Amino acid sequence: MDINQIIKEAIDIGGKESQKGELACYIPELAKVDPNLIGVSIRDLKGNHFYEGDIEEKFTFQSAGKVFVLARVLKDIGMKVFEKVNYEPSGDPFNSMVLLEDEKGRPRNPYINSGAILVSSMLQGDNSDEKSNSFIDFLKELCPSSDFKINQAVYKSESETGFRNRAMANFLKQYGLIDDVDVAVDTYFKNSSIDLSLSELSRISLFLANKGVNPLTQKRVISETCCRNVVSLMATCGMYDQAGDVALKIGLPCKGAVSGAIVAIVPGKMVITVYSPPLGEKGNSEAGLAMLEYLSKKLEVSIYG
Ligand code: GLU
Repeated sequence: MDINQIIKEAIDIGGKESQKGELACYIPELAKVDPNLIGVSIRDLKGNHFYEGDIEEKFTFQSAGKVFVLARVLKDIGMKVFEKVNYEPSGDPFNSMVLLEDEKGRPRNPYINSGAILVSSMLQGDNSDEKSNSFIDFLKELCPSSDFKINQAVYKSESETGFRNRAMANFLKQYGLIDDVDVAVDTYFKNSSIDLSLSELSRISLFLANKGVNPLTQKRVISETCCRNVVSLMATCGMYDQAGDVALKIGLPCKGAVSGAIVAIVPGKMVITVYSPPLGEKGNSEAGLAMLEYLSKKLEVSIYG
């Protein structure tokens, strides 16, 4: 079957599935989005772009950004990142704090919130503006035609309601893993609130499917080893306590976000990104997961064969 036809069918399936989900309302600004938005954007390493639906609509990066923050920090300081953050799955929800005390503040992995707050604090810069700007510069290198602005309303909403994230940062400070609680959480909130479209998300993800080299420019973004680490961690930790379900049904390294986007990497072949705001119980897009399951099956791209 033609790939464009497969994408259309995935959108039909996703449209029905999205009715079962609910918008993320713990960040009030995210609850204002149109729940019927839906899109698929697939880019392969040869430069082809296959898409359908709302691929130019802006949403905030949220946890999909954690992948790129880790890539940026790995590029800057290499494997030293893992002295402060572990790389094991937690089997816990994205905002869990239960393991932090037992493990002396060292977060289980860079994709749960505590780990992502820690990794955000390692971005270059003396304050949250500088750190977040250095991250945005990294995104612009990946997609020079985009401006990647912070959505101020979402940023404010996150900051006003992010008590749990602040509690985690206080834990990290208590154990000497970060210097400044406010800088760490503020950088994390700013990075989470960067606006981008599905088309931009698939484009900036391409190097992850190509051993760290941007296939559109042939420029190396990160080393092959760093790329393998970023992508492997997506497979084991990217979908939090839904990682097993995703491995069985989709079979691809994925990273979801509470704004409703999911990015899936098919190493050596392509990037598949999906978007639909209503979320399931585990904080991942309900339609997004259904669309990825269908696409993975029809395109026969599960990495587990
Ligand atoms: N900014 C969100 C939070 O910290 C990100 C969560 C997510 O996308 O999974 O709650």
